[in-house]
Amino acid sequence: MKKALSIIMSVILAAVIILPAFAADSAKAGGEYKRVFIIGIDGAGRFIKDAKTPEFDRIFKDGAVDYTARAEVKTDSGPNWGAILTGASIFKTGLQNGVTGDAERTSETEFPTVFTYVRKAMPDAELASFVNWNNINYGIIENDIGVNKQNVPDDEKLTDAICEYFDAGNAPTLFYVQLDSVDHEGHSNGSKAESYFRQIETVDGYLGRIFDAIDRNGLADDALFIVTADHGHTLTGGHGGLTRRESEVTVAVRGKTVVKGGEMDSNTRNRDIAAMTLYALGIERPDTMTARIPANLFKGVEGEKREFIADIADSVISPLAWIITVITGLFGM
Ligand SMILES: [Zn+2]
Repeated sequence: MKKALSIIMSVILAAVIILPAFAADSAKAGGEYKRVFIIGIDGAGRFIKDAKTPEFDRIFKDGAVDYTARAEVKTDSGPNWGAILTGASIFKTGLQNGVTGDAERTSETEFPTVFTYVRKAMPDAELASFVNWNNINYGIIENDIGVNKQNVPDDEKLTDAICEYFDAGNAPTLFYVQLDSVDHEGHSNGSKAESYFRQIETVDGYLGRIFDAIDRNGLADDALFIVTADHGHTLTGGHGGLTRRESEVTVAVRGKTVVKGGEMDSNTRNRDIAAMTLYALGIERPDTMTARIPANLFKGVEGEKREFIADIADSVISPLAWIITVITGLFGM
């Protein structure tokens, strides 16, 4: 009797100790990374796939890359950098381009960026944002949480400033970059022009320099390193609409727990980068986010559902918009 009791007690004790270890595998936990780098290439859409990008290929050779992630239904920069950083749709954030130009956002906002959540969890962490388009640094990323913000309206000089920042010994927990020259080229000549692909290749060189600066300062090994775009461009140049060329974007992820060659599921959106960021740093995701962890991204982590009820406008309009997008794609648009 006594022996039976001790066996039962041992089983219960083992369950108490072992089960939470398995539960920690759920997407809500994470925390395997010390830092997250998000490198945004404005206007590059899915087209990194069609350019010669040796640096991108080298960085993500063991990573997971999706060229068919979806942008917000309004394919402009404000809505998409807003969604990528807040994990919420444009219907929730209201971050139109014009809004980002006027606003001085603070952490009191209903839909804060990941910077605010990281700041709350890690009061002393170095957080930084280096951008070409300064709307992001004032109209999207909050102005009252001590983010180190740099605005350099030239991609090459911006890259120089980023490399100097890392070589000076800075070790950010969260670091965001926005490069803008590909978008300029897309506006001028469209997403089929040789000059557009040449500009993606030039920016690929900047990407390589940024990664190498991070790596030579010992910050790459414990990092989740992400490259993404806010939107693409139409055939003749411009964006904001629903064509497939505007709506499909690159999401590329490198990190020690990332599935090599993992093809993220078809429900992946650039907005999901907010979920990946908090997951990587082990910070609980707020209910205001409709970002999710895609399947086939992190080893042993299942893909999550996107909560329908949390954002009904987006849940209804996005699938309808996608039907239009797919049809435009049939015509090469
Ligand atoms: Zn643009």
